[in-house]
Amino acid sequence: MDKDLNYLRIKKINNKIENNQGEYVFYWVINGLRIDYNFSLKFAIEKANKLQKPLLVFFGLKDGYYWSNLRHYQFLKEGLIEFLGGLKHLKIAFVVKKINDDKLIFNYAKKAVAVISDEVYLRGVKNRQEALSDKIAASFYLVENNSYYPINIILNKKASFSWQIRDKIFNFLNLVKKDFYLEKTKINCLNFFPTLKKEDIEKEFAKLNLDKKIYFKKFIGGEREADKILKEFIEKKLSFYKRFHSCPEKDYTSNLSSYLHFGNISPVKVVNEILKRSSLKDENVYSFFNELLVWRELSFNFVYFDKNYYNFKSLPTWAKLTLEKHKNDKRDYLYFSQLEKGETHDKYWNTCQKEMVYLGKMANYMRMYWAKKVIEWTKDWKKAYSWLVKINNKYELDGRDPNGYLGVSWSFGNFDRPWRERKIFGKVRYMSSSGLERKFDIKKYVEKVNKELSSNTKDLFHK
Ligand SMILES: Cc1cc2nc3c(=O)[nH]c(=O)nc-3n(C[C@H](O)[C@H](O)[C@H](O)COP(=O)(O)OP(=O)(O)OC[C@H]3O[C@@H](n4cnc5c(N)ncnc54)[C@H](O)[C@@H]3O)c2cc1C
Repeated sequence: MDKDLNYLRIKKINNKIENNQGEYVFYWVINGLRIDYNFSLKFAIEKANKLQKPLLVFFGLKDGYYWSNLRHYQFLKEGLIEFLGGLKHLKIAFVVKKINDDKLIFNYAKKAVAVISDEVYLRGVKNRQEALSDKIAASFYLVENNSYYPINIILNKKASFSWQIRDKIFNFLNLVKKDFYLEKTKINCLNFFPTLKKEDIEKEFAKLNLDKKIYFKKFIGGEREADKILKEFIEKKLSFYKRFHSCPEKDYTSNLSSYLHFGNISPVKVVNEILKRSSLKDENVYSFFNELLVWRELSFNFVYFDKNYYNFKSLPTWAKLTLEKHKNDKRDYLYFSQLEKGETHDKYWNTCQKEMVYLGKMANYMRMYWAKKVIEWTKDWKKAYSWLVKINNKYELDGRDPNGYLGVSWSFGNFDRPWRERKIFGKVRYMSSSGLERKFDIKKYVEKVNKELSSNTKDLFHK
């Protein structure tokens, strides 16, 4: 095994060589919105220096994404503006443009010596990158920039359970070299392209057609804020993580999910910062890495190897059969339009639904309860599945992420084992409100969320 797995992050996805006629190295950034531990940027700088060409970084603001709203895009914008500052400091040129399709990207890419982009495991972007790599004359590289491991190192087929990857994840930890160093660009790239200003980014965002009603978020996007949150987590919360991370009434999780999703921080940096102060022998570190590395990388494996990751077809056969067998079981409650508004009989469920809709981040443990109850209260379990995917992606600031697809699928039995058979759920694991009352100070959670709601939000559904 190679001593540093970071080299395996880079893959050439077409059969072309560097285009000698090209004018620059082109980095089409997707979710590598950071300077530190940006493996794609590192590779792009090294390539540009070697070929003695300037480096141009491009971000395409795609309009018309499903469920695009101000909450997601404001966070994105904050990250982009900070990234602009970082690139300028490195004398690297940056372009941010609103796009409806990939014509503009193609126009830039066809003049490139080599094209580099962040590897994304979800289908939409992946298809666009593959299509572009066919059309251009230059070599096209994808860099696995946001995972801890290059995906095939841990398992090069679909995993069915987390235990299949856990040992390798922990045993290989030190094979990912954690020092990170960026070469300086040999050419001042800013001399070759028009200067991008913060106001230009603002202007491009203003052109987008976004749902502005969904706007509130608790977190500010960007690398600096991600670093701050990580530091606070390590200093104040990590030593209580194992005991308290599931408790919805407390705040002992890292809150890094949106930063990881938008690429404002790399998991390699997170691991490195933690291991500078603690070791894997600490049960809190182990427990945190179990989420950050085992479950998060499992979600990458899931969406990478299962083309049905966004629908019920991804479920194991036993889960589909058991849910189908119980599809006509009597439901004590049936809801549809009341769900999105958080108007059911269950105050715990309403609270977590509103926490997501209005505040943009539902507590970790409540996400499982949330999904389970939708299965219980929906007439058709397949409709429950698509509703959960949609609502999760629409409102969660960390939505539209492999973790979300895995979370929904897990709630229907994927990556879990069969449990004692019961109505509606069959052998799929069930969760109850009395379980919440037994395990947590759930009333305190309701109070905490209500307090935040009263000071922060406007009614989304009021006409
Ligand atoms: C129905 C459902 C939907 C979910 N939707 C999303 C989603 O859209 N986006 C998202 O990032 N996570 C999702 N999760 C996973 C998890 O709930 C969140 O990652 C976590 O609550 C984020 O908070 P944190 O960063 O403070 O977590 P921490 O406890 O601090 O965990 C650190 C990191 O580990 C990863 N992680 C934690 N729990 C899980 C998990 N169960 N599965 C995979 N990775 C995990 C996340 O990247 C997280 O940022 C979902 C889970 C369920 C059951």
